[in-house]
Amino acid sequence: MISGEQKKVLQRSLPGLILEDEPLAPKTAFKTGGRAAVFLQPETLTDLRRAVETLAEMELEFLLLGGGRNLLVGDAGVRDRVVISLTRGFSDYTIVGSDRGTVMVRVEAGVQLAELIRLSAISGYGGLENLAGIPGTLGGALAMNAGAFGSTIFDKIAAVSLIHTGKLEWRSVAELDPGYRDGGLEAQDIVVAAYFMLPRKAPSEVAGKVAEIRQLRRLRLPSGAHAGSVFKNPDGDYAGRLLEEAGCKGLACGGARVAQEHANVIVAGSKATSRDITTLMQEMRERVKSSCNVMLEPEIRIVS
Ligand SMILES: Cc1cc2nc3c(=O)[nH]c(=O)nc-3n(C[C@H](O)[C@H](O)[C@H](O)COP(=O)(O)OP(=O)(O)OC[C@H]3O[C@@H](n4cnc5c(N)ncnc54)[C@H](O)[C@@H]3O)c2cc1C
Repeated sequence: MISGEQKKVLQRSLPGLILEDEPLAPKTAFKTGGRAAVFLQPETLTDLRRAVETLAEMELEFLLLGGGRNLLVGDAGVRDRVVISLTRGFSDYTIVGSDRGTVMVRVEAGVQLAELIRLSAISGYGGLENLAGIPGTLGGALAMNAGAFGSTIFDKIAAVSLIHTGKLEWRSVAELDPGYRDGGLEAQDIVVAAYFMLPRKAPSEVAGKVAEIRQLRRLRLPSGAHAGSVFKNPDGDYAGRLLEEAGCKGLACGGARVAQEHANVIVAGSKATSRDITTLMQEMRERVKSSCNVMLEPEIRIVS
């Protein structure tokens, strides 16, 4: 629990960057969960580094919030860690080099993936088309190693710039060694930017593929408040198939319900709590365990 005294010290040390008791539900895909005792919004790298240094001196841990598209925040909120959001700044992208076939783009962590893909389509930079429609920020996509249709965010990354134990460092993709829905970051690493190497293509070709992928996703996913897949696919199979076979479609708990369109998606109704969602997830796991002896692992990150 962050004490009142610690909040005062933070307000004094980091003026203008701190909000107290900030509601997190509107910032997440499920629209559930409590408040952040301390919510930190640095606008610049200097602010962020100063904030990280202050938190280290105070021995306070932190949690990064990107677009909240893969996070389930507990109903009691986040009381013992500082929640850091990079979406107030960290929104630049710059072409840093190019030749006839490729461009190198530096993209900051707070940029929405959708915005990056929109600009790639306009400019004729390929390689990200399969990721069209994945919501959230670049920082979140890298932390999660977000992917779809056989591609992942790391496919076109040359290097990632991050803050590790207070220092600004570089990581190559080989050093991070990302795995399935895991970008290989260490617990308190903060992604600040990434360098993409994107092949030049005709803008119409990129835009056409992006539109096709968006259409495919629209057909597969339900509407309403949800965070995409709740569980990771187990080796060689699909969580959605196992959940459907275990009779999970339509299962409900309080205001949360397993989508009829996709058994690996939970839709949160307006009265849903985070507790409803975690209880439903437990029931889904137990059903799959008893029907086919597979223990599903959550893809969404549950924080409290
Ligand atoms: C409708 C819908 C469809 C989806 N479809 C897909 C899909 O097809 N494929 C897929 O992979 N995912 C999918 N997702 C999940 C989600 O979009 C991705 O995981 C996305 O990359 C999360 O980004 P975010 O910015 O919202 O991250 P958040 O949800 O805010 O955070 C996710 C994780 O990243 C960490 N993080 C965030 N920013 C940083 C940073 N700067 N530095 C370090 N760590 C950070 C957080 O602490 C957290 O652990 C879907 C979600 C929705 C709502």
